[in-house]
Amino acid sequence: MQFVAGVDLGGTAINYTLLNQQEKFLIEGLFEHPALARQGPDICLQQIADGLTLAARKVGASADDVVAVGLDTPGPASASGQLSARGSTNFVHPRWAGFDIREGLAHKLGKPVSYLNDANAAALWGHYAIFGSNSRETSISSIIGTGNGGGVILDGNVVKGKNGFGGELGHVLIPYQSIAGTSDIKPECNCGRTGDLESLCSLTAIEKNILPYFLPRYPGHELGKGDLHQAAKLVRGLAEKGDPLSKEVFRVQAHALGLFFDEMVNTFDPDAFIVGGGALETGKQFQDWFIEQIRAAMPTQREEQAGIPIYVMPNGDTAGARGAAIEALKLAREGGLA
Ligand SMILES: [Zn+2]
Repeated sequence: MQFVAGVDLGGTAINYTLLNQQEKFLIEGLFEHPALARQGPDICLQQIADGLTLAARKVGASADDVVAVGLDTPGPASASGQLSARGSTNFVHPRWAGFDIREGLAHKLGKPVSYLNDANAAALWGHYAIFGSNSRETSISSIIGTGNGGGVILDGNVVKGKNGFGGELGHVLIPYQSIAGTSDIKPECNCGRTGDLESLCSLTAIEKNILPYFLPRYPGHELGKGDLHQAAKLVRGLAEKGDPLSKEVFRVQAHALGLFFDEMVNTFDPDAFIVGGGALETGKQFQDWFIEQIRAAMPTQREEQAGIPIYVMPNGDTAGARGAAIEALKLAREGGLA
């Protein structure tokens, strides 16, 4: 048996999946191993290797059966997998600064390793789930979590960019002044920009920008009683139950995304949009309403582009590992290994 592995490295856990040559995922759901990233590269790379052995054993195989490994990590990192000199998000150890994690892992395992940042890996999974592996289509993914990550898949391939910042869609500026009912909001992003996608379409945006804007307009609302950090996490559940303030918050997020998607329609003329992340971990009815709201915010399209579909990304919690595995399969096929 031969297969490739997807290794999604986070600050605390490594999430694995295995994909065979018939493109069947051999591990459904999460298979995790502790990352120990705070203890530095040597220990963390050993953890990745140990976890890979356990993952292979889980399907009755051995790590020798893994022909290539796809790695994804949080950014910032170069397109080839060298972590930023400032160190990667969540990897708090001085030796991570400027560390070439792709090369380090390839050396450790003695196998070819491909690299994507975690948002681009998730975007590749979303694209694959819709179009399959031999796709020549173009899709734009937006993943609404604590921040807003995403990715552009162009003609079936991830746009990584010259410096690894391809698909940093959360920091693209949008014409937020045109969102109905919030014309005087000033949404600030952690990156220093005012009015980019993440400043309105993320959990952080709810806490820092949208709730502070709306709460004074809903005096006595229960979300105004605790601290904003906790309140922001309650908004999704309340919105799903129909709370008017919370629905307004999600309407603003959907409209921000609609304005952004319109920019992408005119940049890429894509085959599909894909939305994922914690914001969409809700029932189908709420997802459908959210997608309707995105569409409602998109200015009228040319006739040919009016029907571009908007999908919800499946298997959200394993998206990074699955996307990393798909990239590894491409690498293995290019190298004649699969
Ligand atoms: Zn930003």
